[in-house]
Amino acid sequence: SFTAVYLTKDGDLFSAELKHLEDNVLDSNPLSEGEVVVRIEHSCINYKDGLAIANRSPVVRVWPMIAGVDGAGIVESSSAPKWKAGDRVVVTGWGLGETHWGCLAQRARLKADWLVALPGSFSTADAMSVGTAGFTAMLCCLAVRNEGVTPTSGDVLVTGASGGVGSVAVSILSSWGYRVVAATGKLNEADYLLALGAAEVLDRATLAAPGKPLQKERWAAVVDSVGSHTLANACAQTRYGGIVTACGLAQGMDFPASVAPFILRGVKLIGIDSVMCPMERRTSAWSALASDFDARKLDAITTVVGLGDVFATAEQILAGRVRGRTVVDVNRA
Ligand code: NAP
Repeated sequence: SFTAVYLTKDGDLFSAELKHLEDNVLDSNPLSEGEVVVRIEHSCINYKDGLAIANRSPVVRVWPMIAGVDGAGIVESSSAPKWKAGDRVVVTGWGLGETHWGCLAQRARLKADWLVALPGSFSTADAMSVGTAGFTAMLCCLAVRNEGVTPTSGDVLVTGASGGVGSVAVSILSSWGYRVVAATGKLNEADYLLALGAAEVLDRATLAAPGKPLQKERWAAVVDSVGSHTLANACAQTRYGGIVTACGLAQGMDFPASVAPFILRGVKLIGIDSVMCPMERRTSAWSALASDFDARKLDAITTVVGLGDVFATAEQILAGRVRGRTVVDVNRA
């Protein structure tokens, strides 16, 4: 048998509990269809997991659900030739914990096409301290680089810099030689951001309020996980021909901007999605993470908890009281 974070809903009655399930429930359930059974070692708690576990917004589409958007572990069995017992794998997104049983569990049955071979330099815990957040950061950084922005093009702005996406983006871009300006609301975290490689720390308040449609040209590129006025101001401050990647909505889902930066400065706005990201881009992002990102850099902001701790952590992440990343050791009670 195995233990999982099990979410049920019957009318208005919601429950979230640790449940012991027989192994064979994975074999006969349409919510766990897949060719590969993975012995999960580590998962993590993203904001979206918090929403699901605390029943705060309609993340879960089908009931009962096993929570967990991300997972890393060892293949136990596979009917697909692509994977064999003993392979180390990582999985993020694809509707895990939303429409397919997820990875906050000691076992998961997953589609062969969803799995990425875990790069040798990463432990399963490392992979989950990176998680969807770090993977998304790499997708943003690769977009900036693939669009031809080089370290000599000028400064790169990272917003939400002390968050999961932001921290990893600061680290990657600085290791690639870019001069990174990190915008944060936590000026007391300035030393952490400078240690990650930021050249300068900017008070996020300077970007948070409504601004003019075109402002002084400052950024060769922007990695934004904040949205709303921050994204609008970032676009308005982007230099001629610059690149802005948008992946998040920490300030808001709105985009109160004008077309001026796009039609007068040729600024390019690129949307980044990690959930349904095609496999080719996934594998290149994970191999770039393995070669260019030192997961040890996340140690300072990573907390490891047990499966039983996820309920309290879910409340804390929604209340904004979690700093950095929370890895879940699914074999710890
Ligand atoms: P996180 O760890 O909670 O970080 C978000 C950061 O945004 C915070 O640490 C804070 O950084 C900043 N922030 C929070 N509230 C803000 C506000 N009201 N105004 C301005 N800045 C604010 O979250 P994350 O995991 O990095 O995710 C960041 C965003 O990306 C979320 O919206 C998430 O849903 C989204 N996301 C999207 C994808 C995708 O596939 N597109 C994947 C992963 C995440 P400072 O204190 O440093 O300012």
